[in-house]
Amino acid sequence: MNDNSLKLPKFKYHPNVYDKEKVLDAVQFDNNVCQCCGNKTDVYVSTMYCSGEVDCICMECVANGKAAEKYDGEFIQYAEEISDEEKRTELFRRTPGYCSWQGEYWLACCDDYCEYLGDVGYAELKEMNLVSIIEEYKKVEGMDFDNEMLEKGGSLAGYLFRCIHCGKFRLNVDCD
Ligand SMILES: [Zn+2]
Ligand SMILES: [Zn+2]
Repeated sequence: MNDNSLKLPKFKYHPNVYDKEKVLDAVQFDNNVCQCCGNKTDVYVSTMYCSGEVDCICMECVANGKAAEKYDGEFIQYAEEISDEEKRTELFRRTPGYCSWQGEYWLACCDDYCEYLGDVGYAELKEMNLVSIIEEYKKVEGMDFDNEMLEKGGSLAGYLFRCIHCGKFRLNVDCD
């Protein structure tokens, strides 16, 4: 985090997006020029799901929807279903994605998207007393693996979400 991040837009569904320790590779910290607004920036996203070539979109152009409009694209690949189309627009077109093997799969709860807290593995979940959500994930998905194999940013990687209404933690897992 640098001083500049105090002025950066905040994202309801992605509260830790500028925290490099918690969220791996969702944003780039580097001097560049936003190809949407032409302003200099030192924090930006470098990917988008769209037909054009995108490598630098500043956080303002993500947050205000200008990049999604200009490139007719989205920042999120998949999400669970919810009923409110406005919320879908906010997530897909005005929220930066996160880095994963097969593309984002944003979890939902209480008919709204969860907030994405960051990349996790067994060690991080154990530290947070959340190992039970690994068991829950395996049960729901009908999968089996050793909990220790789950590694932050690893080939079996965990993604931690929390419901912004009931506070329930949920896990998604992705492998290479
Ligand atoms: Zn911009
Ligand atoms: Zn909930």
